[in-house]
Amino acid sequence: MAACTEFTCSHCAFKVEAWDDGNRYLTDQDGKRHYFYHPGDLTEMRAFAEAQMGGVMTEADYLAFLHERCGNEGDWLCLKCGCQRRRDPKRDPMQCPNCGQQKLRGTDKLEGRTCPKCGKGTFHGEMTAVS
Ligand SMILES: [Zn+2]
Ligand SMILES: [Zn+2]
Repeated sequence: MAACTEFTCSHCAFKVEAWDDGNRYLTDQDGKRHYFYHPGDLTEMRAFAEAQMGGVMTEADYLAFLHERCGNEGDWLCLKCGCQRRRDPKRDPMQCPNCGQQKLRGTDKLEGRTCPKCGKGTFHGEMTAVS
């Protein structure tokens, strides 16, 4: 179950979508991220872990694997230049790759913020979809 809130600028109608559940991933040996979504994500994550480790894992092994390799990327908006990026705040540098400012803000926390596109309006959120 994921809910979507759409934030719209009161001045220029710039829109940003915010999903409440993020993008869960596991990293492989090379550090590459593999994403897992509903439904089937739990069994797929387990199968991925066992494929990575080369065999059936105990519960304790699996939990240790998750602790080391599991993360969740949220959607972030740069309040300086308006570009959107996926970031895991626990692992990724929270700096905008486009303008270099540390102005990234979670897209679910845009209510009342000044729009970076026009610099005049503010965002107002409305729940639009549940999938
Ligand atoms: Zn605007
Ligand atoms: Zn930026």
